[in-house]
Amino acid sequence: MISPDTFALKNGGCINGFEFDFFESDGSNLAEPETCPSCDRFVDLLTLTEPISGNLVAEKSLYDLSAHLGGEIVFSAKARKEFNKHQVTGIKNVRKLGILEVEGPFQIHELDEYFLAQVSYGARIDRIGSGFRTTSAQLCDICGYSGIIEGVDRIALEQGSWSGADFFRVRELSGVVLMSARLVQICTDAELKVRCMLPSHSFSLSFEPDW
Ligand SMILES: [Zn+2]
Repeated sequence: MISPDTFALKNGGCINGFEFDFFESDGSNLAEPETCPSCDRFVDLLTLTEPISGNLVAEKSLYDLSAHLGGEIVFSAKARKEFNKHQVTGIKNVRKLGILEVEGPFQIHELDEYFLAQVSYGARIDRIGSGFRTTSAQLCDICGYSGIIEGVDRIALEQGSWSGADFFRVRELSGVVLMSARLVQICTDAELKVRCMLPSHSFSLSFEPDW
């Protein structure tokens, strides 16, 4: 199933996607990652626990919402207010960021408060429809792991697998944050600055050598 009504947040590497992200300093703590009960692999990347401190890199713009490494999001207090108002679903473990410095043309006092949150799993990928390529044909039933990812041509969801959450991820591509059309409309109406958002059918990745 091609899903023209969902959107993906790209973590860097997009047109006009000036760098914007949070980089924790050494003093921040990492939580234990969850492991798959079936194949024993880590099913999620490490996440930070409060207190969190570090630098915000804002090359050209102060975005209200951006993808962060490991399938997390960074968002402003303005965005948080809208998410609460509209009861946006699919995020958990919201933590406040302690920003020490801004790397870019902004001053600390100009900044809104920023937060980090994990995005929950909420759909499965349609492997064929997405052109999803991995190094192994074997598939773990629980976490969906099937070797190292080689590439994906678009993000199509397995029919009936989407929970309906506004923010969601697919286990097979756990670093990619997806958004519902409703959420995109909420962001548009509130004039939130969203970094690197594109329709899921236009999202591709390739880790194969470019012969
Ligand atoms: Zn597994």
